[in-house]
Amino acid sequence: MAVERTLSIIKPDATRRNITGKINARLEEAGLRIVAQKRIRLGRDQAEAFYEVHKERPFYVSLCDFMTSGPVVVQILEGDQAVERNREVMGATNPTDAAAGTIRADFAESIEANSVHGSDSADNAAREIAFFFKDEEIVG
Ligand code: GDP
Repeated sequence: MAVERTLSIIKPDATRRNITGKINARLEEAGLRIVAQKRIRLGRDQAEAFYEVHKERPFYVSLCDFMTSGPVVVQILEGDQAVERNREVMGATNPTDAAAGTIRADFAESIEANSVHGSDSADNAAREIAFFFKDEEIVG
């Protein structure tokens, strides 16, 4: 199987509830290795640029408000089929649809405050990793 990297974000609802360690444990138990990680506060411009793909969606402004409302932890996860594996561990966008035992089923507060972000394709993973990290910040 192919070793991949994907971008993960622990969102402000989770940092506020002090459950970043619990979420990291879920990721590690799923075989994903955290090869880079930093806690930051997203600026408005950064949040808008990161979610540019959703610019026309009705929830875009609210999503950017939420993502800048508190600290986030941005991280790079490495492992076999890391993009798909992380999406499985995260669960569906809406926690009411998320499979039992997934991060969103167990921790998300709402469809918006859903605790984690994960890249949805290898191409987006590469773009999102480059958005937040320099090569020298990644220690595999
Ligand atoms: P993801 O790939 O599962 O994170 O889902 P999307 O790419 O479709 O959406 C990006 C993020 O926008 C989600 O993780 C949510 O935080 C937020 N979001 C998605 N759909 C909705 C919605 O219908 N309403 C609101 N308020 N936020 C949403």
